[in-house]
Amino acid sequence: MITTHNLGFPRIGARRELKFAQEAFWKGELQAEDLNITSADLRRRHWSQQSSLTLAPVGDFSYYDQVLDMSFTLGNLPARAQDTDGTDLDRYFRVARGQSANDTACCAIHAGEMTKWFDTNYHYIVPEFDRETRFQLNPARLLEQLAEAKAQGVKAKPVIIGPVTYLWLGKANDDGDRLALLDDLLPVYAELLNLLAEQGVDWVQIDEPALVTELNGDWRHAFNFAYHQLKACPVKLLVATYFGELRDNLQLACELPVAGLHLDAISAAGEVSRVTDWLPAHKVLSLGVINGRNVWKTDLEATLDWLEPVHERLGERLWLAPSCSLLHVPVDLASETAMDPEIRSWLAFAVQKLDELQTLANALDHGRAATVEPLAQNTLAIASRKNSTRVHNPDVTHAVAAITPELGKRRSPYTERLKLQKLHLNLPAYPTTTIGSFPQTRDIRQTRLQYRKGTLSEREYTTRIREEIARCVQEQETLGLDVLVHGEAERNDMVEYFGEQLDGYVFSQFGWVQSYGSRCVKPPILFGDIQRPQAMTVDWIRYAQSLTDKPLKGMLTGPVTILNWSFVRDDQPRKDSCLQLALAIREEVLDLEQSGVRIIQIDEAALREGLPLRQSDWQSYLDWAIEAFRISANGVSDETQIHTHMCYSEFNDIIEAIARMDADVITIETSRSNMELLDAFKGFQYPNDIGPGVYDIHSPNIPEKQHIVSLMQKAAERIPTERLWVNPDCGLKTRSWDEVIPALQGMVDAARELRGG
Ligand code: GLN
Ligand code: ZN
Repeated sequence: MITTHNLGFPRIGARRELKFAQEAFWKGELQAEDLNITSADLRRRHWSQQSSLTLAPVGDFSYYDQVLDMSFTLGNLPARAQDTDGTDLDRYFRVARGQSANDTACCAIHAGEMTKWFDTNYHYIVPEFDRETRFQLNPARLLEQLAEAKAQGVKAKPVIIGPVTYLWLGKANDDGDRLALLDDLLPVYAELLNLLAEQGVDWVQIDEPALVTELNGDWRHAFNFAYHQLKACPVKLLVATYFGELRDNLQLACELPVAGLHLDAISAAGEVSRVTDWLPAHKVLSLGVINGRNVWKTDLEATLDWLEPVHERLGERLWLAPSCSLLHVPVDLASETAMDPEIRSWLAFAVQKLDELQTLANALDHGRAATVEPLAQNTLAIASRKNSTRVHNPDVTHAVAAITPELGKRRSPYTERLKLQKLHLNLPAYPTTTIGSFPQTRDIRQTRLQYRKGTLSEREYTTRIREEIARCVQEQETLGLDVLVHGEAERNDMVEYFGEQLDGYVFSQFGWVQSYGSRCVKPPILFGDIQRPQAMTVDWIRYAQSLTDKPLKGMLTGPVTILNWSFVRDDQPRKDSCLQLALAIREEVLDLEQSGVRIIQIDEAALREGLPLRQSDWQSYLDWAIEAFRISANGVSDETQIHTHMCYSEFNDIIEAIARMDADVITIETSRSNMELLDAFKGFQYPNDIGPGVYDIHSPNIPEKQHIVSLMQKAAERIPTERLWVNPDCGLKTRSWDEVIPALQGMVDAARELRGG
């Protein structure tokens, strides 16, 4: 019989039960015992949903983050949280979320840094190392979950992060060598593995996704060294790799002295046969044959076509699993009762993916003839999607095929455009603007919600949103800002707003995916060719412009960001979907221009997020991503000013691509970096206008005018003053009006002082 297993299950709960329990606990409204009860219930439910598997993951459940869990298991707490009062759980959340000084405990503790988990939208708490770092095993969490699983009759396979990836994920505060810690770290891993063996554990899944990244000789050596050291431990180790190809680490991964290797057969499909060839004959090969990163049904027959020969060759040595942890997909499609049934029939969430796995295993064990029914159903669904006219729209295919490089080019170079725009817009030096959204008050949220529920008529809704727009424009006029915005009151989310108006998108009701801690996102599902049936923003923007003589900036989300924050199609390259989105946004841009809007901002907040794991793959991504942006933006006449906005600070390694976007103005996040990140722009001699953020909108602090002046002076040391704009770091939607008014007043006053007025 073929062994099936799972690398991890979403822990947030089909109704986000964990989120609500966590948040109640943080507010002091729920006792630790009750948080434990909710968590134990979720684990029980999730194991029962995985009961068809030969081996189920244990230890993948986390109160906040699996990397932070590993730090605790290894006794690697940042010194600032050690010996603080309360329970282990209190200290755990203290590292996860930080603690302000006015809490019950004495002093402020800053949260651990958060960063993206490989190329997913999940964020983990970065392990911290320094010269004082010592490790000490703290196995309680894992052992408790293991005991719980055993008591429930679960065939348990503990899941831990491997020692090399653990170090790779972390950061040495004193710039020390993380690998120097390996010697100290390995005995703790050995101790843990021995303990697990004592508990009757047979297999341990040890995640080493660092193997799909570019590794230098030291890191490669560390892999060999680590697993030779752990070889003597009396458990079988399944080294799990996922999210990419092994490439030059393939041989290394195959030859590690462990009992098995997991390969992501979705993102490394081309490596299955090489791994099968290289893997020593005593080892298990676990193939991740169901995509753990998207929401589509697997084509089971097509999978069996290539899988059967592998099975014939490997026999019992072949294991089957999803490609990676199912953390990255929603829990259960059964909840989606409101979804269009045809589209729904094409989808699979975590629970459905495990059913698919079972069908594949049955077909391999007993032949396809023994699984006729589920295979036939699957074939039907796959065919329905493949042939659907809702997926394939010949007009869109033609439009994409007709794209020429000309489409992405402005008529004149920036220096020429600038002259015309100056004449046209008549802006002062150091022009002031904002990034788009203004405070999203309770009233605004209520209005949108009521409209959505149907309790507010379209007319009434329009009136109320217009009132908000009018208020927002009025405030900006009073403040004396130079380029105004409408405030985005009608938008719940910068991607969802556009997705809902484009053909080719569908929305789930409960398709939540954990982003970090208790935060979840519900990515829209891009299922078909993208078309824009009608203008999406023009009415609101035109209304806002009608209220003021100042230029009003039209607000759009760019194609790359829409793509990167959606579940995307697996039946065509990401690039193709992105170009379709680009054409739709381009139409909107041209409509805005047509209706008299003279400045249009196209946000690309997620451009950097889409970078592939390996730097050697960056260029090809950037090529099509930048091309898509250019297509969306550059159809306008020279007089129309294009802005873009990105809210992050690492530009060094992509500055050349940013320049290629050729936006007339780019606004970026800089206030916390003291303008130092402008060095990247200076070094590259970035040619166009830049608005370095001077107001950290993540913080309730209100910046002083003088502070803003000094930030801008620092900026002016790096960028010619005639190319500088003055603006906040990002949108203001999470702030209140009380905070926004004085902050923006300080900004406007600072700009006046800089102008010498
Ligand atoms: N225009 C958007 C806003 O102001 C940009 C948001 C973002 O960059 N994340 O809210
Ligand atoms: Zn932003």
